Amino acid sequence: MRRRLIAGNWKMHGLKAQLGEVEAIAAAAAANPQIDVALCVPFTLIAPAVAVAGALPIGAQDVHAADKGAHTGCTSGEMLRECGATLTIVGHSERRGDQHETGHDAWAKAVAARRHGLQVILCCGETAAERDAGRAERIVQSQIEKSLPDGASADWLTLAYEPRWAIGTGKTPTLEDIAAIHAIARAKLRAMVGDAADGIRILYGGSLTGANAVEILAVDNVDGALVGGASLTAGKFVPIIEAAA
Ligand code: PGA
Repeated sequence: MRRRLIAGNWKMHGLKAQLGEVEAIAAAAAANPQIDVALCVPFTLIAPAVAVAGALPIGAQDVHAADKGAHTGCTSGEMLRECGATLTIVGHSERRGDQHETGHDAWAKAVAARRHGLQVILCCGETAAERDAGRAERIVQSQIEKSLPDGASADWLTLAYEPRWAIGTGKTPTLEDIAAIHAIARAKLRAMVGDAADGIRILYGGSLTGANAVEILAVDNVDGALVGGASLTAGKFVPIIEAAA
């Protein structure tokens, strides 16, 4: 059986003033040991968060594909490890959109993260226009095909399905639509990595809250969640952790 993972994505939110939230989330994670919990914070908050997080894994939201070099403003896997991160998100739709990252970029970043011993949460998901055109399944399959590294396995890789139009909008797909995409994603993983696909967790992300977590987490092949807005405070995030436990 796949252990559930509830991962927070703080995006460009979080100063040292919010470390109390990290501590409270870490306490909730420790109180619910039957599931995994992790928190991906801005680069600048990784080391301070690690200092107060106890056993709660702290992650980044991006990593550079190269180990070092002339890449102004970028951060390598080795740097993330040194400040205590144990995981990173790659291929988030906000990076695909804002920074024009491609499927190949996400692939290269996942490979680099793996090289440095970081766990990877690899994101995929269609836009509203792609869904309206009936292309959601094909887009997700193609993103997985382009960005999943060879030899991906559950011990270091988690997939996250995040329809872009559901991120930060308060809109979520129907449970049937979530089930359909997660089944397609599972089949794609199986086609690419064989039986190892059965162990790989597929998270749902996009406007997940304490109010809809129970029903979404009950959908077939939903093995947890990647949570943005509702992960910023313990008050909103802990109910999601408890719903998953
Ligand atoms: P949201 O973001 O929960 O605020 O919709 C999810 C994400 O982008 O990871």
